[in-house]
Amino acid sequence: MGTVPSALKHCLSYQHLLKEQPWIGEPVPPPQPGQESQTSGLPEYIKIVEVGPRDGLQNEKVIVPTDIKIELINRLSKTGLSAIEVTSFVSSKWVPQMADHNEVMRGIERHPGVRYPVLTPNLQGFHNAVSKRLYSMGCYEISLGDTIGVGTPGSMKRMLEAVMKEIPLSALAVHCHDTYGQALANILTAIQMGVAVVDSSVAGLGGCPYAKGATGNVATEDVIYMLNGLGINTGVNLYRVMEAGNFICTALNKKTNSKVAQASFNSGTIN
Ligand SMILES: [Zn+2]
Repeated sequence: MGTVPSALKHCLSYQHLLKEQPWIGEPVPPPQPGQESQTSGLPEYIKIVEVGPRDGLQNEKVIVPTDIKIELINRLSKTGLSAIEVTSFVSSKWVPQMADHNEVMRGIERHPGVRYPVLTPNLQGFHNAVSKRLYSMGCYEISLGDTIGVGTPGSMKRMLEAVMKEIPLSALAVHCHDTYGQALANILTAIQMGVAVVDSSVAGLGGCPYAKGATGNVATEDVIYMLNGLGINTGVNLYRVMEAGNFICTALNKKTNSKVAQASFNSGTIN
């Protein structure tokens, strides 16, 4: 494991995966003198904003019991994630899944170093004008949402080029859905352009409101796996996120949408 970048060394699951299925992980070799690093131009650290307990569960058909939500958030708090969207203070008339927001806020254990935002502006589509107004209103982090998942790396690039004229990159996050299977490619495009905050949902929780049975939020596990492979530090332990994903999928009696979790469970590298 001598060539595994240090960012990967704490990640049990990745090591397991590499050991048992060496073909899936091509560790980044250290750059030779005079040779450009494979990750040059990419941010060294990416902040992952976990949206599963809010955006994810809000778009699940079943209403999840409050104690299960609290347990999920408590487990996610121990993964190294620095931001976990926990609930939404919207009317229970519109979003019955979030009617227990007070109980959830009261019930969770708050870990030092973890922020628990209750709502992130989630723009429908790519509207620069709206983003600019939010920024001038004092929003320090604007999450550009492709919530119907139709974007491609091409449209992501064009959208970011337009938004970057109005808003500093440091204030931008991306929120990609995998409905058309483009989420990881879109995220990679965004981070290549310098975006360093990515929204994702444990186990890919949250369906697509427009297409029955289609995938919604990109899975946190899959994003971390990709970033680990690029040698980018997230501070998050992939193995623990997979355990949290397994917990909520068991509670909801559903299959995970994370490809990484599916591969790991099937090959017995977790359990
Ligand atoms: Zn979403």
